[in-house]
Amino acid sequence: MREQRIVVDDMAQPIPSEGEVLVKTLACGICGSDLHALKHGHELVQTSQETGGSFSMDLAKDVVLGHEFCAEILDHGPGTAKKLKPGTRVCSYPATYHHGQPSAIGFSNTVPGGFAQNMLLTESLLLEVPNGLPFTHAALTEPMAVGLHAVRMARLDRTEIPMVIGCGPVGLAVISALKLAGVGPVIAVDYSAKRRELAELMGADEIVDPSVTSPYSTWEEQAAYGLDGKLMPSDPIAGQKFRQGVIFECVGIPGVIDQIMVGVQRNCRIVVIGVCMQPDQIRPLVAINKELSLQFVLAYQPEEFAETLTNIAEGEIDVEPLITGTVGLAGVAEAFEDLANPEVHAKILIDPTL
Ligand SMILES: [Zn+2]
Repeated sequence: MREQRIVVDDMAQPIPSEGEVLVKTLACGICGSDLHALKHGHELVQTSQETGGSFSMDLAKDVVLGHEFCAEILDHGPGTAKKLKPGTRVCSYPATYHHGQPSAIGFSNTVPGGFAQNMLLTESLLLEVPNGLPFTHAALTEPMAVGLHAVRMARLDRTEIPMVIGCGPVGLAVISALKLAGVGPVIAVDYSAKRRELAELMGADEIVDPSVTSPYSTWEEQAAYGLDGKLMPSDPIAGQKFRQGVIFECVGIPGVIDQIMVGVQRNCRIVVIGVCMQPDQIRPLVAINKELSLQFVLAYQPEEFAETLTNIAEGEIDVEPLITGTVGLAGVAEAFEDLANPEVHAKILIDPTL
């Protein structure tokens, strides 16, 4: 990423510092955050500075994007234990200690991200890809971990009915995590037919096209019935009783949070994962009138990342449907454009050897 454009160029071979390994990238997914970094890099950096976030790159300098990767070990740097031999396939939480400084892989001026042919990773963070798992699937660990974290943070209990608004990669990851957690029925909402199809493949129980049906009436139809399958009583004043709702906002464009607040029933909880880069307006009175709760979540913990890789390797999560394209380095700029069309793509993987 150079001056808000994607270019392909040569750079110096990265040299591992103390505790690092040199790896060859096998596959790296393009993430919504990469699209944001390209279009809204200044907002990303500025809010990071205000909040202590990890997007602290200098946009006047080159950044090699890419944090959703699977790689192969080439060489070990100084002070490494060398438990994993060269040739071992690995994933890693996307951060490295380069010369003792933490760097966010894919959002850094000092270490390259996964769109490069070679990268540096911290040895102690490496996770060996379990035997036999294709590296293309292992590369989906990062985006799927986002879903697991969001669902963990939401602390759903079995009586609550989740609804996922927006079925891009983040929404799909949330759906799969909800299914793994055994809560439901899971209601998935998207305008795109392709994304609704993917939501179904990830296990969503009810799929809503909001241009045809109100997601909130679909949710109410489900939530009017208790865990015992019986219609809940109607209160003479408040009307029909409902189970509690947890709405996952996975869209991230202005106006969506307020729309959800207007649409949902009283006492619902809204978990925001969709990254809206612009200032957004909500009307607190809407939320006050309904006693809504609003929660924001980000990324995942290293343990959740590791757990997700295991889940994918053990077949608990099938990520194959999410991979809708693979490009070589020359195709990255075009892939960024293509990802704007939800009818075609969910996740495009980059194979830097192509
Ligand atoms: Zn990402």
